[in-house]
Amino acid sequence: MVELLSAVKGMDDLFESDLATWRHVEHIAQQTFLAYGFGEVRTPILEDTALFVRGVGETSDIVHKEMFAFDDMGSAVCLRPENTAGVVRALLQAGKVFADAYEKVFYTGAMFRREQPQAGRRRQFHQLGCEALGYAEPAMDVEVITLVHTLLGRLGLAGHVKLVINSLGDAADRPAYGKALVDYFSQHEAKLSDDSRRRLRDNPLRILDSKDPRDQVLARSAPRTLDFLGADARIHFDAVQAGLTRLAVPFVVDSQLVRGLEYYTRTVFEFVGEAGLGAQSTVAAGGRYDGLVETLGGRPTPAVGFAGGIERLIMMMKAVQVTAPSAHPQLMLIGVDDDGKAICERLAHGLRGQGLRVAVDVRGRGMKAQLKTADKSGTTFAMIIGGNEVSAGKAVLKRLSDGSLIPEVSLSIDAIAAAIR
Ligand code: ATP
Ligand code: MG
Repeated sequence: MVELLSAVKGMDDLFESDLATWRHVEHIAQQTFLAYGFGEVRTPILEDTALFVRGVGETSDIVHKEMFAFDDMGSAVCLRPENTAGVVRALLQAGKVFADAYEKVFYTGAMFRREQPQAGRRRQFHQLGCEALGYAEPAMDVEVITLVHTLLGRLGLAGHVKLVINSLGDAADRPAYGKALVDYFSQHEAKLSDDSRRRLRDNPLRILDSKDPRDQVLARSAPRTLDFLGADARIHFDAVQAGLTRLAVPFVVDSQLVRGLEYYTRTVFEFVGEAGLGAQSTVAAGGRYDGLVETLGGRPTPAVGFAGGIERLIMMMKAVQVTAPSAHPQLMLIGVDDDGKAICERLAHGLRGQGLRVAVDVRGRGMKAQLKTADKSGTTFAMIIGGNEVSAGKAVLKRLSDGSLIPEVSLSIDAIAAAIR
C-alpha cells in the first residue's frame, strides 16, 4: 500500500458539514457589504514580498516572522498574509486613486501566516473585510465600525462581542508618544519578554499588543496614546465616539489598544468575543490608515477599513449555539416500481431545475433504506410513488419531522413545488 498524504500543517480541509455555516457567513457578509455601498474586489493570493515589507512594516510580527515567502525565478514573492496592502496596490495599479477619488471595496479570501497552529489560529485562514479610500471624515470610521456591528448582529452574535476603540493619533504625534513608551519600558527592561526588548528598539508601540503575560502586566501602567493626541486627532476621535453613540452602537475606549500592523493612524478598533474563543477572541479588527497609500507610492489618501476572521466567527457562532440554515434536501422522492421510479426521475429533474433540493435514489435500494437515509440527512418531506399513485396521478407528502401528512398532492412539478417551498 502507498502511504497516505496529509494536508500541510495548520491548513484545513472543509466539508459540507462545515461549509453550510461558511456559506451562510459569506452570504450575510456580502449582503451587508453591499448594503453599505461597498463593491467587491478580488486580488491575487501571491504578491511581491516588498508590498508587505513596505505596507505592513518590517517590524510587524506578520512580516518579521509569519510570511510564507519564496523566490520565484529571482523575484521575492509571498502568500498574502493580509489583504489591505494588496487591495491598495490593486486600486493604485488600476489608476483608481487620483485626487479626490473615493472607493469603497470589500473582499473575502484566504490569507497565510506561519503561526503556531491552534484553534482559531491557522496557517491558512480566511478573512472578510472592507476598505474605504479617500475618506478623511470620522463618519466613515463610524460607517465601517457600524457595518461590522451590523454584520455580527445578523450572524446572531450581538450581545456576545464587545467593541473596543482607541486612537493612535497622527504620524506627527507618534515620536513624542514613542519616546514616552521607550522611557517607561526602559525602566522595566529586565522584566520584558525577549521579543519586547527587541521591540523597544524597533517599534515600542508593539509592546502594548504583546501576548506575553510579563509584557501585559507592564503595559497596563504604560503611557496612554490618548494623552498624546494632537488637536486634529482628538477632534476626530471625539466625533467617532459621538457618531457611534448616535447610532446606539455600544463601545468602550481602551487606551492600551494598538494594532499589530504598522500602517494604522488615529482610530483603531477590535470586536472581542466574550465566549468560547479562549485566547483567540478577537473576531474582527481594523482602523484608519491615512499613511498607507502614500507609503505604497500613491498620493496622500486617507483610508479606513477592517478585517474579520471567518474561522473565529464560526467558532463563536458554535460556542453560542447559533445555527446556520442547513442545506439538507427539502424532499426525497421514492419510486416503488419501475413506473414510479420513472416519474420520480422526471419530477426530481423539474424540481431541481427550480432550485429546490430534491433527493432521489439511483442505486435501486429498497424503500426502507431510502427512508432511513432521508431521516438521517434531515430531509423535510418524503413522497412515495407506487402503482396506486401513478394511476391516481396523486400522492401523499409526509413531513418527516412530525409524521404529518399532506394528502392528494398532484404529481406535477408545480403542485409539489408549491407544497414543499
Ligand atoms: P491576533 O492578535 O489574534 O494574532 P492579528 O492582530 O494578527 O490577530 P489581524 O491581522 O488584525 O489579526 O487580522 C484580523 C482578523 O483576522 C483577526 O481579528 C482574526 O479574527 C483573524 N486572524 C488573524 N490571524 C489569524 C490566524 N492565524 N488564524 C485565524 N484567524 C486569524
Ligand atoms: Mg497575529
